[in-house]
Amino acid sequence: MLKSKTQEEIELLRINGELVSKTLAEVGRSVAPGVTTKRLNEVAETFIRDHGAVPNFLGYDGFPFSICTSVNDVVVHGFPSDYVLKDGDIVSVDLGTIYKGYNGDSAYTFPVGEVSAETRRLLDVTKASLYKGIGAAVAGNRIGDIGHAVQSYAESFGFGVVRDLEGHGIGRDMHEAPGVPNYGKAGHGSRLIEGMTICIEPMITAGGRGVYLAKNGWAVHTSDHRYAAHYELTVVVRHGKAEQLSTFDYIEKDPSINI
Ligand code: MG
Ligand code: MG
Repeated sequence: MLKSKTQEEIELLRINGELVSKTLAEVGRSVAPGVTTKRLNEVAETFIRDHGAVPNFLGYDGFPFSICTSVNDVVVHGFPSDYVLKDGDIVSVDLGTIYKGYNGDSAYTFPVGEVSAETRRLLDVTKASLYKGIGAAVAGNRIGDIGHAVQSYAESFGFGVVRDLEGHGIGRDMHEAPGVPNYGKAGHGSRLIEGMTICIEPMITAGGRGVYLAKNGWAVHTSDHRYAAHYELTVVVRHGKAEQLSTFDYIEKDPSINI
């Protein structure tokens, strides 16, 4: 039996969702050819702590950085490093916060400079698939409806839907029940109830859906080394229409950010 959050809990999750959204925009202002992914980590770390919160990724299961920076064929969980971003790259920035005991968690994939038309389409379709998933996250539907919405949309463009990782509930823990897969059958799985808080995060590839874990035990790469994109938002399940607790507006309404 899945549980809904109280309105007080939702308000604390909203504060985290807002901070995560603003932090992603702050990082986005720094994404450019010539910048290291380690620098993006510093920008996020500073911004989160300046707002009185803590980066919840740092130390999570031993993760050694404050954000994940996943470049090109890295799907998720890339380590920030001395890698210098170059024109045509894409970088998924995934980050979270903890504030007053509750969590935030969202991700955005930024193009670096000019990207190819195929990469552009991968970014656009992946983000649109997230909104398809959010559209299915309404009370009375089932978990499988979300995955089905994401999968059927992304696959209609010939893209791969990664199955090894999934979205999740969020609250006092960053990862709570239920798991929210990006594939599934409509009408199957646990029923969604009003007030549940979940993170939906499609991980979509330009090629096959196969992935492997890097030797560092964290970075997940596409097996065929085609590019992968990843977008994530936190929502509250409601009747009729899900309510977003995080947003890409701070990124997409800032003309200085390359999207
Ligand atoms: Mg997540
Ligand atoms: Mg995340």
